[in-house]
Amino acid sequence: MANLLEITNLHANVDGKPVLKGLNLKVEPGSVHAIMGPNGAGKSTLSKVIAGHPAYEVTEGSMKFEVNFKMKDLLEMEPDERARDGVFMAFQYPVEVPGVSNETFLRTSFNSISKAQGAEEMNEEQFRKFLQKKMELVSMDPKFLDRAVNTGFSGGEKKRNEILQMAVLSPRLAILDETDSGLDIDALRIVADGVNKLKSPDNAVVLITHYQRLLDYIVPDFVHVLADGKIIETGDKSLALKLEEKGYDWLLQ
Ligand code: ADP
Ligand code: MG
Repeated sequence: MANLLEITNLHANVDGKPVLKGLNLKVEPGSVHAIMGPNGAGKSTLSKVIAGHPAYEVTEGSMKFEVNFKMKDLLEMEPDERARDGVFMAFQYPVEVPGVSNETFLRTSFNSISKAQGAEEMNEEQFRKFLQKKMELVSMDPKFLDRAVNTGFSGGEKKRNEILQMAVLSPRLAILDETDSGLDIDALRIVADGVNKLKSPDNAVVLITHYQRLLDYIVPDFVHVLADGKIIETGDKSLALKLEEKGYDWLLQ
């Protein structure tokens, strides 16, 4: 089957310093990939490079994304174009947007993507109905809709809000960077349920996580270890259990 995402020999610098050093990753539609690895390995850098964050400079390699059965060069696309083509990122540290209500933010994002894809935009009333269903999916209290985006949200509330954004935008490729950190066990289940309900044969999820615990709820097809800017090991779910037991040292020799 064709891949949704193909990253080949990716090198990227942050602040002039090499962080990604020849990373390869292929993601097929319908699959769930987990990326684990030591702190500072480059996991968040990878997610930011995929999203097109301007502070991260790609110096070598390629990153292709399938759109309408053609592989498009992500590196040639602006961050908003990537989003319109269905790339979604839930950041490790979600941004606060003071002064913009969560609902307005979600509707604006949704409509700009719909418009770019030639789909019907929704008015406030239509969107509110649509949004209510998505809120139920992540068991979110409606009071969060009138509050400014992520402003004063607790860590767990921010993460849940990221999953709500994902549910609203229904991306083809979702990258979740440590969406499980800071969640208690109930919130973790809700987040995992949300992800599981959104899974389809057409889209894929990449989960960056430190904990095998999340993978009890969202079962990955592949587990990768990212260390020193490269994927150094790939396995199935059992690799995550082995890492939990033995740490990373045995791989880093
Ligand atoms: P991980 O998510 O695997 O813990 P990161 O991708 O966040 O690792 O970081 C990889 C390396 O890049 C670290 O040494 C980190 O300090 C550095 N780095 C990441 N982002 C920045 C930035 N914006 N400015 C300077 N250094 C950065
Ligand atoms: Mg990180």
